[in-house]
Order: sequence, then C-alpha cells, then structure tokens
Amino acid sequence: MTTTDDALGPIYSQVVHRNPGESEYHQAVKEVFDSLGRVIAKQPHYGQSALIERLCEPERQVIFRVPWLDDQGNVQINRGFRVQFNSALGPYKGGLRFHPSVNLGIVKFLGFEQVFKNALTGMPIGGGKGGADFDPKGRADMEIMRFCQSYMTELSRHVGEYTDVPAGDIGVGQREIGYMFGQYKRMTNRYESGVLTGKGLNWGGSRVRREATGYGTVYFLAEMLKTKGLALDGRKAVVSGSGNVAIYTIEKVQQLGGRVVACSDSDGFVVDNDGIDLNLLKEIKEGRRGRIAKYAELKGNGAHFSSGGTIWDVACDIALPCATQNELTGRDAKLLMQNGVLAVCEGANMPCTPEAVRMFAEAEILFAPGKASNAGGVTTSALEMQQNASRDSWTFEQTDAKLAAIMKDIHDYCAATADEYGLPGNYVAGANIGGFVRVADAMSALGVI
Ligand code: NDP
Repeated sequence: MTTTDDALGPIYSQVVHRNPGESEYHQAVKEVFDSLGRVIAKQPHYGQSALIERLCEPERQVIFRVPWLDDQGNVQINRGFRVQFNSALGPYKGGLRFHPSVNLGIVKFLGFEQVFKNALTGMPIGGGKGGADFDPKGRADMEIMRFCQSYMTELSRHVGEYTDVPAGDIGVGQREIGYMFGQYKRMTNRYESGVLTGKGLNWGGSRVRREATGYGTVYFLAEMLKTKGLALDGRKAVVSGSGNVAIYTIEKVQQLGGRVVACSDSDGFVVDNDGIDLNLLKEIKEGRRGRIAKYAELKGNGAHFSSGGTIWDVACDIALPCATQNELTGRDAKLLMQNGVLAVCEGANMPCTPEAVRMFAEAEILFAPGKASNAGGVTTSALEMQQNASRDSWTFEQTDAKLAAIMKDIHDYCAATADEYGLPGNYVAGANIGGFVRVADAMSALGVI
C-alpha cells in the first residue's frame, strides 16, 4: 500500500477484509486511493463522515440464478449480478458483461470505476455494473435469446429509467440489448425506452452509440497529443481486441490519418503493415462473429496471425488497449517504451496493470486512464436517455459533435485538476480526483445515506 495519506491505509485494509478474494476490486480501489491523499491533505472534510468508506460500499448488490434451456433441451444455470454502486449524481448507469470470467469482484471493480467515470462526464448519472458468467461464444441465436430473457426476468425488478439503466459491455451488444428490452417490455407492459441504452436505431437507440466508446477514446487521445504539439496523422498504432470498442477506435484513428497495424482477440493477434482493412475486420467480427485468425487468412498478402507472444510486441507510436482488464503488463510497458511509444490511451477498463501505469508515469509517457478516455460510451448512453425522454432523435453529426465536445471537456477537466493538485500531465490523478470531488460533494449534500 503506497497511498500518501495515513487515513487511507486503514480504509483500504477494511475494503480488502470486507471483500475477500476480490482482487480486481481491491486493485481498482487502491488505484483511486493513490490519488486521494493529496485531496484529503488539502480539504480535510473529504476524509470525514465516513465518506470514503461509504464510497467503497455499494448501495446494493444483487446476485441471482439464471436458468435457461439450451438447444438440446438441457437446463443450464448461470449466475447473474447487478451492483448498484452509487446514485448520488443520478440513476445507476453502467454496462452488463456476459463472459465466463465474470464474478462479484469483477463486477464491483467495474462498478467502482463507473462511479468516477460517470461523474467526469458531467451528466446526471450514478454508477453501477452487472453481468453474468455466461459464455455467449458458440451459442446459437435462440440460446442467446432465452438466456437474455431469463436474465431480464430477474433484473427487471431492479431497473427502471429513474432507478438503474444498464447498457452493453463485453459479450453484450445490440442483439442482447434487444432481447432484454423485449422481455422487459413484455413483463411491464410499458415501452420504457429509457430503461436500457445501446438500443437499435428504429426502437429508441441513439446514433453514434455503437461508435461512441471507440470514437471517444480517440477524441481524448487527440486532445492529449495536442498538449505536446503532436497529432495522429501519420502515426502507427496498435489496438488490442476486435470487439465494439476496438473496431470503432480503429475507425477513428484511420479517419484522423493514423495507421493501425495490429488488433487481436483472445486467440491471438494479427499484424497487417498495410494498415488493418476495416471493412474486412467488420465483416469477420460484426458480420460472421468469427475469429481474428480469419483476417490473415482472407487478407493474405503480408498480413499474419500469431497465437504466441502478445500484441504489445508490435512496435508502435500509439498503444490503445481495448480488450479487457490487466491485458498490458509491466513487461509489455517496457517493450512498448523500448520501441518508442509516445502515448498509451485505454479504451478498455483497467487494461494496464498498476506496474505498467507506474512505468509510464515514471517515463512521462502520455497516459490516459480508461475511466476518463473511454467515457464516450456512457456519455452517448446519457445522450440516448435525453433523446428518449424528449421523444427526439438527433442526426449523426449532431450527436458526434456533442460527444467530441464532452470528451474535450473531460480531457480539459482532468488536465486542470491534475495541475491544481500539483501533478501536471498526470491524467490518472486528474481523473481520480476530478471524479471523486463531484461524487463526494453530491454525497455530502444528500446527508448520511
Ligand atoms: P466486446 O465483447 O465487443 O469485445 C471484447 C474484445 O476483447 C474481443 O475482441 C475479445 O476477444 C477481447 N477479449 C475479451 N476478453 C479477453 C481476454 N480475457 N483476453 C483476450 N481478449 C479478450 O467488448 P467491448 O469492446 O464492448 O469491451 C472491451 C472493453 O471496453 C472492456 O474492458 C469493456 O469493459 C470496455 N468498455 C466498453 C464499453 C462499451 O461501450 N462497449 C464502454 C466502456 C468501456 P474474444 O472475442 O476472443 O473474447
């Protein structure tokens, strides 16, 4: 424990004690605490009324059985979660993850991060997260539908447009949101558009929501590069993952003149020095739900697939981890820096290990933490809620312009907060402190609840 404030050590120990075995949650809390010592030293009231202890204890945690029938007629059982972390700023808001690795600790780490991220957007949304240890890979469409219906049958008791508004995350895209929205509508007899975001365009969705996390990550990156007089044009980038966030990160990097030479999935990574062919990638991943190895097979000429090593072995100017937590280690950070990386911008949640983050900070490499740089997804979800509430539908250009403006605001707020607390250029501290003070001020105003 290296927090700068003695008061935080015992609170962190208590978090570890009360949440045994939840290593990702401990990691997320520690990472925030490492920034808060300075805040409490400067404004001691933030250390009072058990405010920080309350921030670390979710308002509500729901764990439930999700029984469903597979195509062979067998009963399958999964475990569902929804952690409603903090509603001081608005209804709980955060995605649902369907992946076999999902457990309570992972949902809590994601929910905790979400509280600060949502505060940074300046929108009226609290933080929550959910999911299930369900593996959608290789499942038929009707199996996915039955799973989603069963999951929503329980979740419907806990969500609502003024209570908790889930969206997608790993393994949950528009198809799954559709099945869950359909089930919610059927159970409640209400067309309550604002209960879920990430919906399809013809049933209450927002333009740019699909692209938002990736585009927003690159808007943040461009702002960060600008502070050093740099731009994306002509730069070589590596993007891990090939899901929703990765695909639209690649698209925006390419639109701004960068060349993405590698991307991945959990089987391995492809390198294509001509620059990733985005149409081919979308056809494989969005069209056929296929594997990344297929890209090298279909592209031929020069593109190759590797199932050994890591994608971070590929030399680049810009690294954009967009797959999952703890995917970029200290060893990877060292190699990226040896290869001359200029900036690292997180599209995923907590993809860089604490060691990697520390190494980038020590080497003064531009580094954007996901809770700031990937906030474009939730920002556009909040824009979707606005459109649902006013029965309105904005154009792509209008929505994209709002997203870009909010990402610039988040960037500038993090940079200004880091300056204010004597850590110029430290976006980790800026995001943690900036998010914290907004939530803490609202919690103080609402009394001990
Ligand atoms: P998707 O399910 O669309 O894609 C996830 C991608 O990451 C896939 O290519 C997947 O490969 C890969 N991946 C997942 N788990 C692992 C693993 N354990 N090892 C290696 N690769 C892995 O998810 P998203 O793109 O939506 O989410 C990616 C990240 O971005 C997550 O951290 C998520 O929390 C974060 N995020 C997402 C937002 C959104 O709007 N969707 C908003 C903000 C953050 P494979 O198919 O082989 O599993």
